Amino acid sequence: MTTCHNDPVSARVAVVGTGYVGLTTAAALAHLGHDVVGIDIDAAKVERLRRGELPILEAGLDELVAEGVAAGRLRFTTDGIGTVGDRRFVFLCVPTPQGADGAADLSYIQEAARTLGPHLASDTVVVNKSTVPVGSARVVAAELRRDDVSVVSNPEFLREGSAVHDFLKPDRVVIGSDDRAAALDTAELYSSLNAPIMITDPASAETIKYASNAFLATKLSFINAVAAVCEAVGADVADVVTGMGYDTRIGREFLRPGPGWGGSCFPKDTLAMVRIAADAGYDFGLLKGVVEVNDQQFDRVVDKIRRGVAGPLEGATVALWGLTFKARTDDLRDSPALEVAERLSKAGAKVVAYDPTVEPGRSDPSLESVQVTATALEAVTGADVLAVMTEWDQFRWVDLGEVAEAMSGATVIDGRNLLNPTDVRAAGLRYDGIGRS
Ligand code: NAD
Repeated sequence: MTTCHNDPVSARVAVVGTGYVGLTTAAALAHLGHDVVGIDIDAAKVERLRRGELPILEAGLDELVAEGVAAGRLRFTTDGIGTVGDRRFVFLCVPTPQGADGAADLSYIQEAARTLGPHLASDTVVVNKSTVPVGSARVVAAELRRDDVSVVSNPEFLREGSAVHDFLKPDRVVIGSDDRAAALDTAELYSSLNAPIMITDPASAETIKYASNAFLATKLSFINAVAAVCEAVGADVADVVTGMGYDTRIGREFLRPGPGWGGSCFPKDTLAMVRIAADAGYDFGLLKGVVEVNDQQFDRVVDKIRRGVAGPLEGATVALWGLTFKARTDDLRDSPALEVAERLSKAGAKVVAYDPTVEPGRSDPSLESVQVTATALEAVTGADVLAVMTEWDQFRWVDLGEVAEAMSGATVIDGRNLLNPTDVRAAGLRYDGIGRS
């Protein structure tokens, strides 16, 4: 392992895949002074980017993209083959969704490497930024079929909602490669960031990413389980977290109880880690438990809603506030809100939802079990129960008197512990949070 800090140099970079990670990477590297081309097979997405429209909601990303384009350091294309030939670094930021038996599906990354391999210049460094299991650097190298091209693993740790901040102010940059010169060259791309840069072997770099996400998911499942205990014994999880957090070995970060974790990373990455371990002969029982506790958490929220309905779920109307997997993103992938909505819908409930980033009538298969409204108040109109599923700040400021008047029932399930219980009760509503006495 090496930690290095060098002077910045400008490099020619291609970023393959312009989704949450790729677009942030492309814009941020351009911001750091590099010459960047973003490549995507989604022609509509590239067209929007060329028009200056952002296909995703991400704080500060529009300014960064505009800055890069205006400076002539950032452009977008669908023509990967015609572009990569003069690029020193080619970042792979394509999806690695959950495949069979929980393993990561590497087909997107293999396809990108296979297609672009013959068109790379000698001495190109192919940088795996997608989250990939141990051994993937070798898989990519095999698809490239190029002895004169190096592969490095450079996992990304950004969080949706603060992606730009996280990319430009990272806790660490991890680079794994068997080719030390390629790793050092990749490190140079980040040298103007005031961050520790860690150079290691590919297996360790790939494991660092999965272990980090698995640990964060473990913290969330742990505090959700503690919240369940709090409810059973009459303790308040907020005070418990504060009390635990004074212990510097524990800290307070990521100990926020909620409706279960989700999003495009934790669900697939925890299962992939279980599978990586199993393939290597280790039964990762702890992590399996973490996943199981999360599944139970969705059921716990559904149970709270069921109790709030004061009758069968069948035929009841449940209002959800929030559909994205967390606030400050428009990402619906594996959202806890949609997981709960599906379970409610299967039980025969009508689910009506409002989310500031989801317009009514949007065609999206993941929204099949939900009727989307244009306002938070519209969603609660005639509802038997309201459940807060995403911690959008604006939900704090909705007039609770109007909510109470609009609802036909009188129960609020606060899946994010976002609302003030006293205010909710003062409006004549029953309040039930997560682990709150
Ligand atoms: P995404 O779905 O938002 O974007 C992927 C993009 O790749 C899409 O625009 C798609 O059209 C494009 N693409 C697919 N195949 C391509 C090809 N052959 N050539 C060019 N473009 C292609 O995905 P994402 O959320 O940005 O995630 C990408 C990777 O980064 C995944 O491995 C993910 O696990 C990892 N990651 C994601 C996050 C996150 O918060 N989203 C954080 C860290 C790491």
